[in-house]
Amino acid sequence: MTTQTTKLRTLDDLGELRGLRVLVRVDFNVPLENGRPTDDTRIRQALPTIRALRERGARLLLVSHLGRPKDREPEFSLRPVADSLSELLDAPVEFAPDLDHVPDGDLVMLENIRFEPGETKNDPQLAQRLAALADVYVNDAFGSAHRAHASTEGIVHHVARSAAGLLLEREVDTVSALLSAPERPLVAILGGSKVTDKIGVIQRFLEIADAVLIGGAMSYPFIAARGEPVGDSLCEPEGIPVARGLLDELAPQGKLHLPIDIVVGDELSVDARMRTQDFGPIDDGWEGMDAGPRTRAAYSALIASARTVFWNGPVGAFELEPFSAGTRAIAEAVAATSATTIVGGGDSVAALRRFGLQDQITFVSTGGGASLELIEGRALPGIVALTS
Ligand code: ADP
Ligand code: MG
Repeated sequence: MTTQTTKLRTLDDLGELRGLRVLVRVDFNVPLENGRPTDDTRIRQALPTIRALRERGARLLLVSHLGRPKDREPEFSLRPVADSLSELLDAPVEFAPDLDHVPDGDLVMLENIRFEPGETKNDPQLAQRLAALADVYVNDAFGSAHRAHASTEGIVHHVARSAAGLLLEREVDTVSALLSAPERPLVAILGGSKVTDKIGVIQRFLEIADAVLIGGAMSYPFIAARGEPVGDSLCEPEGIPVARGLLDELAPQGKLHLPIDIVVGDELSVDARMRTQDFGPIDDGWEGMDAGPRTRAAYSALIASARTVFWNGPVGAFELEPFSAGTRAIAEAVAATSATTIVGGGDSVAALRRFGLQDQITFVSTGGGASLELIEGRALPGIVALTS
């Protein structure tokens, strides 16, 4: 985002904060089980910004969403998250049950902002009410930056000073550097379930990367596009013309890599019968489930030869152990290289965690949809609002 004409405002641009109330939009949309977060990564990732603002003497009001509540359902309450934050910071966190009952403390967390019907509608009245609670606004919720909501976009128009938090700044800087000046070769591995979800990202990488490795269920439309049967594979019909277009236009450039072989199974279950076959016609009764051993070796070698690697999307149904070998091989190759590595996407990050490799990645992006939109080159409302 940092180009000659636009610049993301950051914490350094905010000036004196002592005694001022800063409303910080964070992304505390964490998984909860029995009233406790089962993964506190997102809470931890907000800590640098929270600490930096507190060190500058600011009084914080933290605002986040959690899930997609329809009403004020208690299972979507952020109260347990406030308790976790208090433990992580070793400081008391006061809880505001709604906008009319916000305590005046140094560290306050507001109840789920999506309990307010105006939030997702970007209602100007709600934006104004939020703004009235603070002197300064900081957005560190990168995962929500692609949504124009009252707490991510609307509020900016009603406060005198606003800026990106450290996490949001780092996400934007990382993607900007990846897109504008990557150390080469740049290799992108793109997998996942649907080619139409990722078409913009594939096209962008076909422009800027040295190699684009396609994997996962999104590779089966490429088989169908060649007029070959895909058996019972997950194969999105709308993806087939997209795949055909990519093959016609871009395969001749030699950048687009398709799997060489695949593992097919007779059902999506741990007890499935499995076999390995070439990437080509799949018999009825069988579905593509994972990358085969020759694909794993070829993709791992391309990853090892890169100086910058971007990975989004598992290359198989990795949640089932028998079909996890392909995704594990990609994750291990990405973890092993000394190149700059960037991994984005909720399921890809879950795969990394499952294999215990998340600490061996240069940058793990927290925003699934937001990072993909940023790569596609779309303007993200939450970021545009903080750009001068
Ligand atoms: P991300 O969240 O990382 O962007 P996606 O949401 O696009 O990734 O896709 C992840 C899902 O795709 C996973 O749940 C995985 O099981 C599924 N998947 C990938 N390849 C296959 C396959 N060959 N067969 C079935 N499911 C697959
Ligand atoms: Mg996903």
